[in-house]
This record gives sequence, C-alpha cells and structure tokens, in this order.
Amino acid sequence: MNREEYVADADWHRFLEFSDKLETPFVVINLRTIKKNYIKLQSSFPFAHIYYAVKANPAPEVISLLAELGSNFDIASRYELDKVLSLGIAPERISYGNTIKKAKDIAYFYEQGIRMYATDSKEDLRNIAKCAPGSKVYVRILVENSVTADWPLSRKFGCHPDMAYDLLVQASEQGLTPYGISFHVGSQQRDIGQWNDAIAKTKYLMTSLEEEEGITLQMINMGGGFPATYTQPTNDLSEYASEITRYLTEDFGTDLPMIVLEPGRSLVGDSGILVTEVVLISRKNNTALNRWVYCDTGKFNGLIETLGESIKYPVISLKDGPETKTGEVILAGPTCDSMDIMYEDTHYKLPIDLKVGDRLFWLSTGAYTSSYASVEFNGFPPIKTYFMD
Ligand SMILES: *Cc1c(COP(=O)(O)O)cnc(C)c1O
Repeated sequence: MNREEYVADADWHRFLEFSDKLETPFVVINLRTIKKNYIKLQSSFPFAHIYYAVKANPAPEVISLLAELGSNFDIASRYELDKVLSLGIAPERISYGNTIKKAKDIAYFYEQGIRMYATDSKEDLRNIAKCAPGSKVYVRILVENSVTADWPLSRKFGCHPDMAYDLLVQASEQGLTPYGISFHVGSQQRDIGQWNDAIAKTKYLMTSLEEEEGITLQMINMGGGFPATYTQPTNDLSEYASEITRYLTEDFGTDLPMIVLEPGRSLVGDSGILVTEVVLISRKNNTALNRWVYCDTGKFNGLIETLGESIKYPVISLKDGPETKTGEVILAGPTCDSMDIMYEDTHYKLPIDLKVGDRLFWLSTGAYTSSYASVEFNGFPPIKTYFMD
C-alpha cells in the first residue's frame, strides 16, 4: 500500500478515532491485521505447521488470538513458556527453539510436557538427553544471510552441516529422537533465493543421514524471515510461498517431510502503529538545511530495531498530503544518550510546517517494539500497548 491508499483505508480512520485521546507514546495493535496475516500465511503454505515465534510480540492478546486460529508456539525461555501455558495452550503445541539454554531450564520444560527441542552444539545436546530423555530434537544449521536480510540472525545460531550430521547421530545414540533440521534465513529476508540454498543443504544432510546412518528425519523447520511492510520494497508473501514451495518440491518431490514455519515479524509487524509526539524541533546552526526532530520515544523505548538504521519504518504525520512541502529531518529519541538517534543517514522527510506537539505515526511497529523497551532508562516507563479488535 502506498501512503495515499494507507490513509484512505477504513482501519486507519478506526485507529485515529481509537487513539485520539490516548497519551503518547504508545503502540496500538490491530488484532484484525494479525488474524488476516495468519490466515494468509496458512493458506499460502497449506502444508505447513505454524509455530509463532513468541518473542516478536508476546502480548497475551496476541498469543490467545493466534492460539484460537490454530497456531503452535516457538518459545525461547521459561518465562515465555509460563506465559503461554498460563493461557491454556497445550504443551504439545510448543517447541523450545532457543539453542542457548540452561540444563535446569530444559528440565523445567520437560516437566511441563514439552517434547521438542532445538540444538546446535554437543554440550546442549547432552543436556537435552539428560534432562528431557527421549524427546525430539532438531538441529539448526548455519546459513549465510547478512547481506540481504535487514535484521540478520546468522553467526550466533546454527552449526555447520557436518556438525549437524554428527549431532543427529549422537542424538540417536543418546536415546533422543533425531527429528529434523532447522534454519533461519535472517529476519526481514528480502532475497527469496536464500531459502533455496538452505533447503538444498537440508536435503543433502537428510539424504546422507538416511543412506549412511539409516536415520530418517521427519521435519524441516524453515524458521521465520518473511517480511513486514517497511519502506524498502519486498515481494508479496504469495511470491515467497510459490518460490519456496517450488524449491521444496524440486528437492523432495510431492511427498514432503513435515514442514514447520516460525513466523514472527510477518504475522505481527504490520499490526502495530507506534504513536509519538514531537518534543522539540531544532537546527544545529543558522544555515543548517535539516531539522532535528526529537520524539517522545526512541531507541530505548520501542524503536531498537532502528539500530544501524536496519529497519526503516514508514513515518507519517497528519500534515502529510500530496501537496505538502517536506524537508529532510534527523529523527531522534528523548533520552540523554547520544545513541538514541533513529535515522540520520537515511534521509527521512517530514512536512516543513511540522510543529512541537504534533503526532508522528510509526507504521508496521507490531513486531520487536514494545517487548524490546527498556524498563526505566532516564526514568521513562516502558511504552504502553493498546489492542484494537
Ligand atoms: C526470532 C525467531 C523467529 C522469527 O523470525 P521472524 O523473522 O521475525 O519471522 C523464528 N525462529 C527463531 C528460532 C527465532 O529466533
């Protein structure tokens, strides 16, 4: 949607009415958008099992809605687990997808009935074998994604396919069920071809395990990486689905293994609008061409993914229009930390007549915003979230 279509949309007017009297800063989550995104993802990949990556937006309202729609859940900590279980979600619908975990947390997950674990190292595998005996394990492989993903997740997670091979053999020796392979091509991955490489590596691994060790894996967990709508263009989800399905059938034929998707950003990103008020507008010298626009929230209070100006949210004001004169701005937050600048190198433009007290609307801020806010840096409380049905 371009800006004109966006502000002509009925949901935008509903949102303006809903948010008009609320004190900034805050995020409004439109639950209808999440529902629409979930249904679209599931119908684009009818064969896939969806495990929502809870970290993207762990609000109970979001988790419960997705549970009703049939989603499963990928969990990274015992705190996320407690929250999801407290909402009445069965342990069979939960995987422990974090490869970095304490033995006592594995034991806790096992006690709560979780039987599916990710791993990428020998030490962690031994802990799983000891604390979650007999469980299903899948091994995360390293994939290169630092160039085309706007928020890369490489290096820290995953292991070389040779090591993944060894781990799956050891899993079997240690009484676990070697269940599958996982990868994450990087969040907000704009190059669909990245899935092709990862699927090809997975196919090779599965075939050699089968032929050389007699180990048949049942699952491929293709992680997240599907896009939300920011300023840089991406293909439509239907394009991702048809390409990725083609890669899968080229490698596996029509008899696919169990396919798991772990979307976070693509389900909830577009559902959020973060509303800030302009605190101050200034110029650094009398002839400066650009204005500094300071907002009442910044990097430490919801906008951390502007680190390195990686995620470029659309930012609009009510003064925007086709005829509006705009000028370049540097967008910064309210705290006393000079890192608290959202966009400087990315040349955002805002109306020339923007004033202190005007609201700025940060679109597509439903993922990785409120849950990333600091507790009280400079005394600012974490940003509030409201939910619109
Ligand atoms: C964060 C994460 C996801 C979600 O990724 P998105 O790009 O937000 O969809 C999925 N799987 C794992 C293991 C993750 O850590």
